[in-house]
Formats: sequence, structure tokens, C-alpha cells
Amino acid sequence: MDLAFDRQHIWHPYTSTLTPLTCYPVESANGVHIKLEDGTELVDGMSSWWSTIHGYNHPHLNQAAHQQIDQVSHVMFGGITHQPAISLCKKLLSLAPINLEHVFLADSGSVAVEVSLKMALQYWHAKGERRPKFLTLRHGYHGDTFAAMSVTDPDNSMHSLYKGFLPEHIFAESPTCGYWDEWKPEDLADFEHKIETHHQELAAVILEPIVQGAGGMRIYHPEFLKGVRRLCDKYGLLLIADEIATGFGRTGKLFACEHAGIQPDILCVGKALTGGYMTLSATLASKHVADTVCGGDAGCFMHGPTFMGNPLACAVATASLELIEQGDWKQQTQQIETLFSELLPKLEQYDLVKNTRWLGAIGVVETHRPVNMEAIQALFVEHGVWIRPFGKLIYMMPPFISKPEDIEKLVNAIDAALQHQDCFA
Ligand SMILES: *Cc1c(COP(=O)(O)O)cnc(C)c1O
Repeated sequence: MDLAFDRQHIWHPYTSTLTPLTCYPVESANGVHIKLEDGTELVDGMSSWWSTIHGYNHPHLNQAAHQQIDQVSHVMFGGITHQPAISLCKKLLSLAPINLEHVFLADSGSVAVEVSLKMALQYWHAKGERRPKFLTLRHGYHGDTFAAMSVTDPDNSMHSLYKGFLPEHIFAESPTCGYWDEWKPEDLADFEHKIETHHQELAAVILEPIVQGAGGMRIYHPEFLKGVRRLCDKYGLLLIADEIATGFGRTGKLFACEHAGIQPDILCVGKALTGGYMTLSATLASKHVADTVCGGDAGCFMHGPTFMGNPLACAVATASLELIEQGDWKQQTQQIETLFSELLPKLEQYDLVKNTRWLGAIGVVETHRPVNMEAIQALFVEHGVWIRPFGKLIYMMPPFISKPEDIEKLVNAIDAALQHQDCFA
């Protein structure tokens, strides 16, 4: 591959064009293995950012894609519908919390979040109230487009860079009680105070249920989420659950909201929706939300992406949900969780390690010093694994089909990195 061209002309995520870090050339991938151009096989610990839950090159998903591409790859969704969208939305509604009845299909996670925020704003507009603000949590992540960024952690997404351009919303302290800790009701105090103070100007609360992903890989107590639902009900506010990272089994439940037994008014899904094959997202809403939005002056919801309901993506997503319906993910994520619970605490023997945590098929090692990306990435590749840390967080979210020896290989590679001072700043 022409890596020189890549370095000179192609932007990679959060990467400098002046001093680009190494990019590893991938030739193909199969199951949990990513194959580099030189033939090296890496055990995948990232599911390509939470998405490839069934592994790469899956026969059932491949077949769905091949079949659909011979029928129609894309057709506009305005005034037209098709079987892949109908099949997908039927399945989504049968799996999602029971109160959700309407599906809006979009292109990426960030767009699903934009759509959810617009739904909440239009909801209050239709009710004749001015509600310009959202309440969310520190250390959250909701995407890289402007509205999504405005509810993402101000420090991680560098709100200061976009000051004056980014709408300013309300941030409550994020929960400190971990999932496995004893619940302390004080954890909800700041959130309660903020909702009480600002509820009259709030359109909705938006958060990632149970696991805050890219904003800090924090795994919090279900009682916090229950408290949030209770307070949203008390003040008549909509609750938007961003399950783009957590949806479809990643936390050991189909949706993370189930850990707290709550239902959101609006739910965003993406990432694993197509089993990691292509970009597709969905925003699900309750009948009450949809009816109110469409009963307003506008008479409809004001959004319509060009590639809305893309048949190829819908067909693959339907196939992915068929695999989910078979139910193997439950036992698979349980097995991965058990392994993480046995293996990760051992890493706390290193002074460099601040904390380890896990839930379902998510394992996190937080260090005291940030990683040296170039060095740690090279060491992981040398150890035959693909793990991409950020800052002080080395984390794994392997495909559900990973075997115990794959998980051990990932954890062993992290163990090796922790013994190399040059892998850290
Ligand atoms: C990744 C992510 C998004 C954004 O999704 P994109 O497809 O990258 O736009 C939004 N919310 C959460 C919780 C995510 O993890």
C-alpha cells in the first residue's frame, strides 16, 4: 500500500497532518482477526469502535449484503419504502423498550443524536414552550457534530475551541459510584440540584446509560439511572438514552437501560446496529413524543438525510439483529465479563495502574500516566493484538465471539505494556 501517500494526504481521526502517527495497513479481517498487509494477524480488542460484535466477514451478514446489492443498493426514502427498512424497524421495535413505537433512520451515531435533540426541541415547540437547554453529565460523549458536541464533556471535546459558536448546556457531575460499588444516594445530589434549578428551561436530559464511553469509560451504578428517570418524570422532562455504544448486548443486557429497569422517551442506536458492516443509526421515540412533535405547527419532524433508510445498510442490520435474536450474545458477554473480572484486578499490582473496571464485554484499565500512542500501539502489534487506547485509558471491547484464549491474549498484551515505561508519557 502507498503509505507515503496516506501520510501526506489522508486525514485519520484526531490525527495531525504535520506529524502523523503510524497507520497499520489492513488487508482483510475474519472472525476476531485483523490481517495486516505483511500477513501479521492481530486479535481484535476494539470491535472497530464497538461495532463488529459478531466478528469480521460473517457469512450471514455477507449473504445479506450480497443479496441486497443485487436487488437495490440505494433508493430515496421520501415517498418510497422497501422491505429492508420494514424488516429492520419491526425487529428494532420488538427488541427495544416496549414504550418506543416510532423509528427514525439516519446515517451515523452523531446524526441520531442530532435527531434526538431536534425531536426534544420540536416537542416543546409544539407545546408552545421555550425550552432551549439540555441537561447532561460530565465525562459524556455523544458525537462530533455541533449539537452532539455541545452535550459532550466540555474538556474532552474542547468546548473552548468553539466558544461562541457552540450552544451552552447544563452539565451535572458524573456518577462516582461504580456499577459494582455500594450505592450512595449523594451521588445523585448534583444532578438533582441542576434539574431542580433549570427544569423550566430544559427540553430533555441526554445521557449514556450505565457506561460513559469515549468521554472516560466510566461504568456507573444503575441506581443513578433510576434516579434520573424518576427526576425526569417529576419535572415532566424527556429522557434521551444514547445507547449508540451500549446497545445490542455490549453491557451484558440488550440495552443498558435494562440494568436499571427504565424506559427512555427517546433512544439512539448506531455502531453495532449493522454488526459493524456500514454506517447506520436509528432514533426511536415513544408514541407520545412522535404525536406531539407532528401535532405542532411544523406538522412533521424536520429532518431527512439523503441516505435515510439505505436498503443495503438496513438489510445487513436486519441480518445482524437476526443473530442477536438467536441469543448467543448473552452467554458470550457473560463469559467475557467473568474473564475480565478474574484477569483485570491482577493488573492492579502495577503502580502505574489507577483502577480496573469491567461490565459485559467491556474491560478498562485506567493508568496514572497517559499512554505514548506510537510506542504502545507498536508493542500491541508485536504481541499480536489490536487495542487502541486514549489518554490514560487502555480499554477492550472485543467481538462477542471472542474465545477465552483471545481475551487472555488481549489482557496479556496490556500486562506487557504496563511493564514498558516507554509506552507511557
Ligand atoms: C460513537 C458514539 C456516538 C457518535 O457516533 P458516530 O457514528 O461516530 O457519529 C454518539 N454517542 C455515543 C455514546 C457514541 O459512543
